[in-house]
Amino acid sequence: MDISFVGAGPGDVELITVKGQRLVGEADVIIYAGSLVNPALLALAKQGAAIYNSASMTLDEVIETMEKAVAVGKKVVRLHTGDPSIYGAIQEQMDALEKKKITYDVVPGVSSFLATAAALKCEYTLPDVSQTVIITRLEGRTPVPEKEKLALLASHNATMCIFLSVHMIQNVMNELIDGGYTPDTPVAIVQKASWPEQKIFRGTIETIAAIVTDAKIDRTAMIVVGRCLDSDYALSRLYAPEFTHMYREASK
Ligand code: SAH
Repeated sequence: MDISFVGAGPGDVELITVKGQRLVGEADVIIYAGSLVNPALLALAKQGAAIYNSASMTLDEVIETMEKAVAVGKKVVRLHTGDPSIYGAIQEQMDALEKKKITYDVVPGVSSFLATAAALKCEYTLPDVSQTVIITRLEGRTPVPEKEKLALLASHNATMCIFLSVHMIQNVMNELIDGGYTPDTPVAIVQKASWPEQKIFRGTIETIAAIVTDAKIDRTAMIVVGRCLDSDYALSRLYAPEFTHMYREASK
C-alpha cells in the first residue's frame, strides 16, 4: 500500500491502535492534522522521517506531497485525529488518490466521542433509556442537510454526541429544547478527552451554556446530551440470569 490513513485516536498517545503505531514507526513521510493530533505521537516516527502539518496545507498540497513521496517509493502515513471517518475530510483525499491510481488503506482509530464516554464513565446505550447514539454537529460553515437539523434529531430524545459545536453552545441548547428535550435533561461537556489537560463539565440543557462560557471552553470539546447521563435504567438482558444467548445457558 502506498498510503495509510491512520486514526491517531483522541489524544492519549496510548490510544492509537497497535497497527497505527507500527505504520507511524515505518513511515518515511507523515502528514498529520496539526490542530488536533497529539504531537507526542510524532516521537514514534523513525529518524529522518519527513513530517508535515496539514493544518497549513490545502488539499492539493497534501495530495501533491503524497504523490511525490510515492513516486520515489516512500511509505506515507496520513494521521487523522480520532477516527478518520468522522469529520475527517478523508473522502476527498481518497477520491483524489483513486484518480491518480495511488493505493491506500485506512486504519481506524478511537473516536473522541468514545474517549468522552470513557472520561464520563458512562454507557451511551442504557436499556429503557436509549438504544441509539446520534453523532452530529450544529451547522457552521459546513452546511447540515435539512432533515438532519439538530432540533429534528433531538426529537428522538436519544443519546447525542455533538461535535464541532461547543463555541455555539447556547444555540445548540436552544435547538435541543425546540426539538423536545426537557430543560432538565443532563448534559456533559468533555474538553480534550484522554489528554492530560482533560476537563469535564456537567449540567443540564438549561444550565450548561453559562457553565461552559464562564470556563471559556470554545474548542476541542464534545457535547453529550441524554438521560443516560443520570438515569435509572433496566439491567442489561445480556447478563440477566434467565437470559440464554450464544455463549451461556439460562440458569434453571
Ligand atoms: N475524527 C475526529 C473528529 C474530528 S472533528 C474523531 O473521530 O474524534 C473535531 C471535533 O472532534 C472537535 O471540535 C471536538 O468536537 C471533537 N474532538 C476531537 N478530539 C476531542 C477530544 N480529545 N475530546 C473531546 N472532543 C474532541
